[in-house]
Amino acid sequence: MDLHDSPEDAAFRAEARHWLEVQLTGRFAEARGLGRMGLQHEGRQLRQAWERSLGEDGWTCIGWPVEYGGRGAPVSQQVIWNEEYVRADAPARINVMGEGLLGPTLIAYGTVEQKRRFLPGITQGTELWCQGYSEPDAGSDLANVQTRAVRDGDEWVISGQKVWTSYAQWADWCFVVCRTDPGSARHKGLSYLLVPMDQPGVEVRPIRQVTGTSEFNEVFFDGARTAADLVVGEVNDGWRVALATLAFERGVGLLGDVVGFRRELDHLLDLARRTGRSDDPVLRQRLADAWVRLFILRLNTLRSLTGVDGPVAPPEASIAKLFWATWHRDLGELAMDVLGMRSSVAGGVPDGPYELDDEQRIFLFSRADTIYGGSNEIQHNIIGERVLGLPPEPKVASKGVT
Ligand SMILES: Cc1cc2nc3c(=O)[nH]c(=O)nc-3n(C[C@H](O)[C@H](O)[C@H](O)COP(=O)(O)OP(=O)(O)OC[C@H]3O[C@@H](n4cnc5c(N)ncnc54)[C@H](O)[C@@H]3O)c2cc1C
Repeated sequence: MDLHDSPEDAAFRAEARHWLEVQLTGRFAEARGLGRMGLQHEGRQLRQAWERSLGEDGWTCIGWPVEYGGRGAPVSQQVIWNEEYVRADAPARINVMGEGLLGPTLIAYGTVEQKRRFLPGITQGTELWCQGYSEPDAGSDLANVQTRAVRDGDEWVISGQKVWTSYAQWADWCFVVCRTDPGSARHKGLSYLLVPMDQPGVEVRPIRQVTGTSEFNEVFFDGARTAADLVVGEVNDGWRVALATLAFERGVGLLGDVVGFRRELDHLLDLARRTGRSDDPVLRQRLADAWVRLFILRLNTLRSLTGVDGPVAPPEASIAKLFWATWHRDLGELAMDVLGMRSSVAGGVPDGPYELDDEQRIFLFSRADTIYGGSNEIQHNIIGERVLGLPPEPKVASKGVT
């Protein structure tokens, strides 16, 4: 496999790099680096303006077909865009759910009307989305969804609670998995609804995270309403659509993340050298090991993307998730050990927000990496059952669903 850019890809890389440089030294100079891990709440207005600017110049949804507002860019160029984006220290994207999850789902399963109504808001960066899957009793076990939607004339009326909903505090819309057949159990009788967030029946309560900031929320639906035709796929067949959405998670974005991981590791190596911690023989081993594992992660991600024209399927997707999440969590622990005693002290005022340095923030937020997007244990289950043909784990009777 030749890993060098083809002439077309090299031209594309130069175009992307130039655009980012012009923007991030000009109008959006203040946006550089905003919203990174553990600081996702930063700079809302500037980042919304940034999303619109990306949309205006055709830098959102570049892998989508041209007819839906994308560029129809091949996988190689999607990877290049993600790499250059992170390299330029551009602000963290705030419509990942719209661009990465809902948009591809609508392209695959939406009606003509739904595509016409919602895709432009995503490509133009004007409508933000959040993902309403997890509930207090439905995380890894998503089929245990209890949120209900009932038809009332031309509308659905939704009641229930979602949790861990990232960016719900900023989102205009939520794609919500609900139970629409009251007598159903598990994955049967679910539907995939598009629900407006700005209405009296929706309450968003931010959850304060261990970093001291709030990236995700509880979302309460109490008689919230949406139009009857805003069901993606068939009524009571939402499980198929919900799983399709999950298959779109990750993939090409991971190589951009690898660029960011490399930057974090380089900072840590620099810190270890400057503080003399690199003289510690055990820390030296661990730093070298982190470098080697990151190298393998990059090569494996490149390998899994070769020849891929859609979502990355198991086992590659599960291996990649396990590998990067565990690597990053371990990097956080290593960062604490490089910091030494200083790692356990944070600045700030008593009972107020505390100030963390980058290493502490990576350590705290990376604890989430092995949980969201399918926890490590769930990835092991997928590999065990679907790849190795091991016996499936016993099914437990669902709680509360008759
Ligand atoms: C930062 C962050 C952002 C998130 N954003 C969103 C979002 O925007 N929208 C959304 O809907 N959700 C979101 N989530 C929720 C995420 O998808 C869930 O946390 C995840 O699915 C795990 O569910 P849970 O937290 O209920 O844990 P549980 O499912 O209760 O799991 C608890 C523990 O048990 C283990 N476990 C569970 N089942 C099994 C099994 N069968 N075999 C072996 N071990 C098992 C798990 O691995 C875990 O260690 C987010 C989570 C985080 C951390």
